[in-house]
Amino acid sequence: MITPTEKAQIGIIGGSGVYQLEGLTDIKEIKVYTPYGEPSDYITLGTLNGKRIAFLPRHGKGHRIPPHKVNYRANIWALKQLDVKWIISVSAVGSLRMDYKPGDFVIPDQFIDMTKGRQYTFFDGPTVAHVSMADPFCDSLRKVIISSAKDLGIPVHETGTYICIEGPRFSTRAESRVWREVYKADIIGMTLVPEVNLACEAQLCYATIAMVTDYDVWAEHPVTAEEVGRVMNANVTNVKKLLGEVIKRLPEKPNERECSCCNSLKTALV
Ligand SMILES: [Zn+2]
Repeated sequence: MITPTEKAQIGIIGGSGVYQLEGLTDIKEIKVYTPYGEPSDYITLGTLNGKRIAFLPRHGKGHRIPPHKVNYRANIWALKQLDVKWIISVSAVGSLRMDYKPGDFVIPDQFIDMTKGRQYTFFDGPTVAHVSMADPFCDSLRKVIISSAKDLGIPVHETGTYICIEGPRFSTRAESRVWREVYKADIIGMTLVPEVNLACEAQLCYATIAMVTDYDVWAEHPVTAEEVGRVMNANVTNVKKLLGEVIKRLPEKPNERECSCCNSLKTALV
């Protein structure tokens, strides 16, 4: 195992449409090796607004890796190896409620896991850990994202339950109605789990910017590829602006963090 000598403060995992970050200076592309295999792609290191960033496109450049094939463990491990303290992940989602409109951003505070066969943990034994997932996201990171979005005039919802399905297929109409009416989820996507649990096990501060692309199939509101494309382009422009602002506002030093994410293993190890 080669431990990379490079370091970064903030990890960004780009989702659909976000395969690079503009404005980075002092750029370096590195390959990080992990005990879990290869991350989704090379990691781009660069400086933005005074902070060292490690950027990783979740689906690989050119969107080659479907959600159920993403090596989530390798991705989180690689970022941890680079010493990042914060991970901001970006994902495109469908909406399960009328008032979370295409083009809106949601900063989820809860999730429901409906995935079926992924690698969910770094602790496959003999070390056993049960991390708390009562509040799965870093609240201080969420607050920075929410206030930045508001100041930039980006429509943002401060809470939301993200239901993560296995994919790669979309939901049936019946499933979509269940997620909405029975499970009371607000948005739906395919990539949050196990990224969020693994980040927690790695004692990192993790939050997601979920960009609403369209209404899920419950809405019986057929959308054209052109509409979806237009919303996605606008979302990508907005999220890049937002990431720049969040990076600017995060504290210089990780020990200025006010959350308990870095202590997530204290009570978890058996
Ligand atoms: Zn935190």
